[in-house]
Formats: sequence, structure tokens, C-alpha cells
Amino acid sequence: MDEETITREEAKKLFAHHRRERVGIRLNPRMASLCLICGSIHVVPKGDEAGMLVCQNCGFAFYRYPCAA
Ligand SMILES: [Zn+2]
Repeated sequence: MDEETITREEAKKLFAHHRRERVGIRLNPRMASLCLICGSIHVVPKGDEAGMLVCQNCGFAFYRYPCAA
């Protein structure tokens, strides 16, 4: 886990955004590839870390939600 890349403010936004978008994410597994911070779809696997995605737009790295798999 690399939690140091997530600031408190980012985590707060992530939490709020996730709460809003939770239903959509669950209904559509493809939403798991949507950046939770800026909403960009330019999210790619980080490669060197299994299950980890990184947003090419804002650079935010996060783990894909296990429930969406
Ligand atoms: Zn982003």
C-alpha cells in the first residue's frame, strides 16, 4: 500500500465522489476505470503493481475496487 500518495484533501474528495458514484460504478464495471478524482477515463494499469491504476490526466494512483471485478 502506498497511502502516502493520497493527501488528506484528495482522500476527502475521493470519499465524497465515491459515495456519489457508487451506484453507477456497481452497475457498470467499466466505471472502475474512471478516475475517482478528476473523472477522466484515461486510466491505465500501473503495470508494476497488480490491481493498481493510475490516471494519466491528474496522475492519481489508486486501487481498483474489488467489488467491480
Ligand atoms: Zn484523474
